[in-house]
Amino acid sequence: MDELKSPILQVRHLSKRFGDNVVLRDINFETRHGNVICIIGASGSGKSTLLRCINMLETPTSGQILFHGQDITGKGININAYRAKVGMVFQSFNLFNNMTVLGNCMAGVTKVLKKDKKTAEETAMEYLSKVGMAEYINAKPHQLSGGQKQRVAIARALAMEPEMLLFDEPTSALDPQMVGEVLEVMRSLAKEGMTMVIVTHEMAFARDVSSRVVFMKDGVVAEEGEPAELFENPKQEATKDFLARFR
Ligand code: ADP
Ligand code: MG
Repeated sequence: MDELKSPILQVRHLSKRFGDNVVLRDINFETRHGNVICIIGASGSGKSTLLRCINMLETPTSGQILFHGQDITGKGININAYRAKVGMVFQSFNLFNNMTVLGNCMAGVTKVLKKDKKTAEETAMEYLSKVGMAEYINAKPHQLSGGQKQRVAIARALAMEPEMLLFDEPTSALDPQMVGEVLEVMRSLAKEGMTMVIVTHEMAFARDVSSRVVFMKDGVVAEEGEPAELFENPKQEATKDFLARFR
């Protein structure tokens, strides 16, 4: 079934260097519709840089990022149109603090997708309901808990009706009691077939939801595989050492 679908995103021989510091080296992976790829690895291994390259927040030093076969690192690409299709959720929420919850979720829909206000409001409400935040539409971000802010950030990304979502450690900034509510939202998105690339330290979650797991070490993909295999039967010493920290 899966192989019948063409890849949405292909990362090919991606490398990224900051000055002399080579942060990503020849990264290769791809994702198809409905896949959930979890990226794990120690701090500093290049996970955020990889997501930031995929979203073109960083320019790759070499290699390609193909979205439906088109290289988004090439010239003449409309980056805003691309970003509307590939949403991103950050560790630190990045909500617009001067706007209400509803305003946050409408902004991209009116400004980037150019929908009228009424449509944008309906769309925003639909996704705020989905993440359980419909009661908070008039609140400002500072009035919300971390878990609530992150659920609003997810609703804001969903309101763009993207083809794919990138998550960079969406629960790492949260108090432990709020991690579950955010993972629950992500689990339901996975069940509904949302295509996602998720950087996470939540190993039980990664094991449950992912189609494939990518383990990064020092800027390379050190091991990659199906979750049951990678977590139960890691092949590389580095993977074993890393996973041992979570037992
Ligand atoms: P991770 O998300 O896995 O913790 P990062 O991608 O944030 O790793 O960082 C990988 C390496 O890249 C680190 O050594 C970091 O210092 C370096 N790095 C990240 N962003 C920049 C930048 N804008 N300028 C210089 N070095 C950077
Ligand atoms: Mg990071």
